[in-house]
Amino acid sequence: MDPRTGEIIKGHVTLGSLRVRQDYLIAQGMTAPFSAEGSESATTTADTTAQAALSEMALARIRQLSAHEIGHTLGIAHNFAASNKDRASVMDYPHPVLTMGADNKISLTGAYASGIGDWDKRVIQYGYGDFADDKARLDFISQAPQQGFRFISDPDSNGGKLPHAYSSLWDNGADAVTELDRVMKLRAQALSNFNSKALADGRPYSDLAEILMPVYFAHRYQTEAAGKWLGGYDYRYQLKTAGEKLLYQPVAGADQQRAFQALLRTVNPTTLALPTAVEQLIPPKAYGYSNNRESPQGYTGLVLDPLSLAEAAAQHTFSILLNGERLARLQWQHQNDSAVPSVARLLSDLWQQLQAPAAAKPLISRRLQVSYLLQLSTLAQNEQLAPEIRAELLLMLTQIGQSAKAAKDAHSQLLLQLATQAQKDVANLGKLKALQPPPGSPI
Ligand SMILES: [Zn+2]
Repeated sequence: MDPRTGEIIKGHVTLGSLRVRQDYLIAQGMTAPFSAEGSESATTTADTTAQAALSEMALARIRQLSAHEIGHTLGIAHNFAASNKDRASVMDYPHPVLTMGADNKISLTGAYASGIGDWDKRVIQYGYGDFADDKARLDFISQAPQQGFRFISDPDSNGGKLPHAYSSLWDNGADAVTELDRVMKLRAQALSNFNSKALADGRPYSDLAEILMPVYFAHRYQTEAAGKWLGGYDYRYQLKTAGEKLLYQPVAGADQQRAFQALLRTVNPTTLALPTAVEQLIPPKAYGYSNNRESPQGYTGLVLDPLSLAEAAAQHTFSILLNGERLARLQWQHQNDSAVPSVARLLSDLWQQLQAPAAAKPLISRRLQVSYLLQLSTLAQNEQLAPEIRAELLLMLTQIGQSAKAAKDAHSQLLLQLATQAQKDVANLGKLKALQPPPGSPI
């Protein structure tokens, strides 16, 4: 970098082979491309084609990543709002777009876009193109919003609590909620397809635990993208000009309702039940192998813990929805537009969703109820929580506590204890802060 001008003189890009590992795992779990166990003929032609598709997807990702890093050396910033405009930039973080192929098999075709995107071409032209003067250069890039492009970077994108509704990492689709529903269907299909063909010959069965993870949690990033619609806003980094109006508005109430319904489905106990056939396929680690950070966590020791998988998935959704900042925005928006779900409704509908027991597996809904209360408990301890949200939380905890008190079973006793402790935390008046105006003396 030339410190006098900011000009980038030289850039180095290093790509490690580990960068495609997660992609390979996703493709492996979602498509199960290897030969069947105990089959007479080892690998079929279909298997060979499916395995080639895996490598092709991994290579397509590394090509994109190379373009992305070279983009940085040219001075281009991340644009996390590009994926919802037809994958307009390599400077977004792309999630592979998998589709349902023939015979309900998952297809990797077109998982990644090829080449740089339309946003990238505009940015390069803006930064490096020849224009008659600076005004012509600015005029050129200021047309981008009218053409449907957004530019939203890290501080407004990286985190589930952030307010921008249309900028997220690892998401896809012009409509985040439609895409979440689509991904949930793919996930259900991939879970019911999941079998030993996800494993290459010569690997231990216990490796299937790590291969299962990207399938079971396939919806995690899209859940975050759709969740940002709740209490969300649309805005851009806009400068005032004579010719253009400011765009800054909350997400429409009807869209927020849609997003909420879609997120409710991600914590449905039946949806989160691991198929028994999958559970029976994954034994404890083979000798010489051990759990690592890609392995599922749980309470059952060496044995895979399906209950804790359900908890981890639900907890992800809870952490997006039950965030103090999001709830405070939601409460304010609801006051102005009754179509926006209120905090009271969000809290009670979520709780209601967890009451339905998954068929023959009541432990799942019980575990999710505990997980929900733990998230409320975390919220109750938050010093930054707005008083209005504190009040709604207190009411919800009181209602849960009362119904738990009436029931006498072991699970209800735990709920009662959790609700009582969280009630004490949320009602701690010492946590209420008096806010000050910023300094303003006319020095
Ligand atoms: Zn980057």
